[in-house]
Amino acid sequence: MSDILIFAAVFISLAVGWGVGRYQGLFQLNNLTKPIQPLSSKYFKGLNYLINEEPDQAIHHFITMLEDDSESVDLQIILAKLFRKQGELDRAITVHQRLLARPDLSDEVRQKVHVELAQDYYSGGLHDRAEQLLLEAHSHEESESVQELLFSLWEEQQEWQQVLDLAKGLKHLSPKLSLRVVGACCKLSVSFKSDSYSYLNFAEKFQPDSVMLHYHFAEAHLQAGNSRKALKRLKRLITLDQAMAPVALPLLKQCFKGRGVWFNSYREVLEDWYQLNPSISIASELVQLIMVDEGKDAALIFLTEYLKIRPSIPGLVQLVDLHLKSDTQQDQATMKMFRNLCRQIIEERHKFQCQKCGYLANQMYWQCPNCRKWESIRPVFGLEAK
Ligand SMILES: [Zn+2]
Repeated sequence: MSDILIFAAVFISLAVGWGVGRYQGLFQLNNLTKPIQPLSSKYFKGLNYLINEEPDQAIHHFITMLEDDSESVDLQIILAKLFRKQGELDRAITVHQRLLARPDLSDEVRQKVHVELAQDYYSGGLHDRAEQLLLEAHSHEESESVQELLFSLWEEQQEWQQVLDLAKGLKHLSPKLSLRVVGACCKLSVSFKSDSYSYLNFAEKFQPDSVMLHYHFAEAHLQAGNSRKALKRLKRLITLDQAMAPVALPLLKQCFKGRGVWFNSYREVLEDWYQLNPSISIASELVQLIMVDEGKDAALIFLTEYLKIRPSIPGLVQLVDLHLKSDTQQDQATMKMFRNLCRQIIEERHKFQCQKCGYLANQMYWQCPNCRKWESIRPVFGLEAK
């Protein structure tokens, strides 16, 4: 039994309790003699189930009560929601269709029921029907809940252009939805590289300081051969979120490739990043530069000092690699076995994790494949990670 259903049961019990109060008030007002006992006793029976920690029976009981009360539109909507949460989509759809058939619904409530029905179809995988209803609702009135559902539907189907087209036609876009538009633009910029700037420039209007956007801008600049602009974007990205340094590192490296003075400039930027985020991936890159610049002994000293403060398996592997390059006769077979074992441990570990739902991944996703949240996946730091 989930917390949501328990909450729903409590909520309905309160709603029905309120209803009982209203009925009693009405009867007293009109001096009616109709007995109110049956409704009250049903209500208390439901409450009893809750008190006795029998939430399943309580929900079943309240559902039966709500089904009997076909007059109240709000309670019928709650009832259908409850059906949907329990996976009883046919029953939820029936309630909504029954409501839509009523001639006395106001335009506002009709719109609300349409959206609820679309949600039933969406939950049941009937995406076309859900989309049709939502687009119809959207043509009548701009509503965030409708936009949110449409975005979820298109994101699931990877229909990024649809997200963009809808956003273009909106008078107002909430901050909650704007990151989703940025996400769609980034996806499109990767798929259609020749138009990447137009997508990214459009996205910048919504969330100019999105880390994901800066990353994709840097990628597009590198594609266009403009490493100076790419570097500017990456520097901005790191000031916004230092934890993303390992993700941005491969692009940073590309910025300096092919440049005449790349070595010194690259080391300078890398040292700055190291000050902000001394992760093993940055340290490891520095070790390689020190190797070229100052020799193996200097690289070994830097890495050993680093590992004393921040022990990590990737760092240890690099240390073994450096030792293997030495001329002294050591037990190379044992060292290699040790190195391979460490590599195996690293490979098997997840390198990224969603901050929202905890989803673990071996590669970077800008949208979590599990909870669909944008920019929620971040590198995992620690003994075995980056
Ligand atoms: Zn997630």
